[in-house]
Amino acid sequence: MNKTTCKKCGKDFHYKVTDMGVPGGKDREYIYCPYCGEKNGSKVTSGFIYTYKIEDVKP
Ligand SMILES: [Zn+2]
Repeated sequence: MNKTTCKKCGKDFHYKVTDMGVPGGKDREYIYCPYCGEKNGSKVTSGFIYTYKIEDVKP
């Protein structure tokens, strides 16, 4: 799990990049802020990117 700060609303959130392990199946997925929906960069992965609000993540 990675943590980042939204460049628009300034809230911290977690995101997780999954990889399905599909050869040649990589695509660019965007990281959207779970609070305001702002795009905060992207990763190339064959899976998906999940984002979590800080208060939804239990330690
Ligand atoms: Zn935001």
